[in-house]
Amino acid sequence: MYKKFQAAWIMCLTSMGASAHGFPNGPLEGHFIAPELLSKPTINASHVVSPQFTSPILHGLHPDRNTSIERHNDYTVSSATLRDEANRPQGSLVMVRHDDGHLLALVETPQQSGMILADGIGTQQWFDASPADYMQPDAEPMTEPASPMLVRESATDEADVDSEGFIVIDLLAGFSRSAADRVGDPQAFALAQVESVNLGLRNSQVEKVRLRLAGIQIIEEDYPVHNGANGALKKALALFDAGMKQYGADLLASYFNASSGNNAAGWAYIGGRVSVQQAKYANAFRHEIAHNVGGSHCNTGQAHYKFGYNNGNSKTILCGNSTSFYSTPLLLDDAGLPRGNPATADMARLWRERAAKISSLAKAVVPLD
Ligand SMILES: [Zn+2]
Repeated sequence: MYKKFQAAWIMCLTSMGASAHGFPNGPLEGHFIAPELLSKPTINASHVVSPQFTSPILHGLHPDRNTSIERHNDYTVSSATLRDEANRPQGSLVMVRHDDGHLLALVETPQQSGMILADGIGTQQWFDASPADYMQPDAEPMTEPASPMLVRESATDEADVDSEGFIVIDLLAGFSRSAADRVGDPQAFALAQVESVNLGLRNSQVEKVRLRLAGIQIIEEDYPVHNGANGALKKALALFDAGMKQYGADLLASYFNASSGNNAAGWAYIGGRVSVQQAKYANAFRHEIAHNVGGSHCNTGQAHYKFGYNNGNSKTILCGNSTSFYSTPLLLDDAGLPRGNPATADMARLWRERAAKISSLAKAVVPLD
C-alpha cells in the first residue's frame, strides 16, 4: 500500500514539474490526493502524520483532527484546516466525493491553491487557480434589481432554524453552461463552495449558523464577471430567478467562465443577495458572500467593525483572502497575533448579527432536517 502511494507521488511530482514547462493554464494529469484523505484520522497516537495523508500538492501540510464529514444525498462533503509540522494552521482542504467514486477537492496552501477533479478510476486533474487579487474593487452597495423574493412577506417572517438550532441560509448556485462544464460536476462544486464558507464560519467561531446548498440552476449563456451594464452582476438575479423561487434561496452565488475584463475574481452587492464569480477562482465565493453579509475589505480608518483584517502575518477572507478565517478579535493566528479587532475588524460578529435576517429573506422550501 505504501509503495503504491510512493509511486503515485513520483508521477505527481513529474506532472507538477510540467507546469513550469509550458502548461500554465490547462489541467495537469496525475495523482494529487488520496481520495480517502479526509475520511480517516490523519495523526496517530505519537502525533506522527501518516505518510498517506499528505501529498506533494499539500506542501508538507496535513489535515487537522477536526475534520468535518457530512452526507448530502449521494455525496460525502468533508473539510479540514491544513496544519504544518508545528501544528499551525496554514491552509484548508475541502473534498466532495460522490458514491460512484468521482471526487472534487479545493486545495489552499500558502504556496498555491486550486482544484482537483478525479473520475473515480484513478485519473486526477489539477487546475491551478490563477493568482487573484482580492483587494481589487469588487463590491457595490445594494442596488440589485428589486425582486418579489427580496420583499419580506410580512413582519412575522423568521429565520429558518434546523432541529439543532442552526440558522440556515439557503443558497442557489447558478452556472453558465461553460462554467458548469469547467468544474466537471456542478453539484459537487457547489457543495464544495458552500463547505468553504462553512469551514470559514467554524474556524471563526460563528456558532449555530450554516450555509446550505438548496439547489443549482444552469443557464446556457455566459457573461463577463463585472459590474457594468452587460456584466453578470446586474443580470444574475433575473437570470436565476426561477431557481431562486423553486428552491427558496436566500442568496445567489453564480459562476461564469468569461473573462471579467478586470482583475476581480468575483463581484457582489454589499448587503445584497447576489454574488458572481469566475469559476476558476475556487476561493472567490467565501470572500464575495462576506460582502453580501455587509462587509468591506480592510479598514482604512472607519469607525466600524464590518471589515476584514491583515495583522501583518495573516490576511482574513475580506482583507486579502489568504486564510480560511473571517476577521475576529477572539482568535490568534500562528504568530500569536489577533485575527481581528473589536472596534475595526470583526466580521464574525457581523455574521452572527446578520445571519437571521439573511435566512429570513426566503422561506425554506427544502426540508430543514
Ligand atoms: Zn471584495
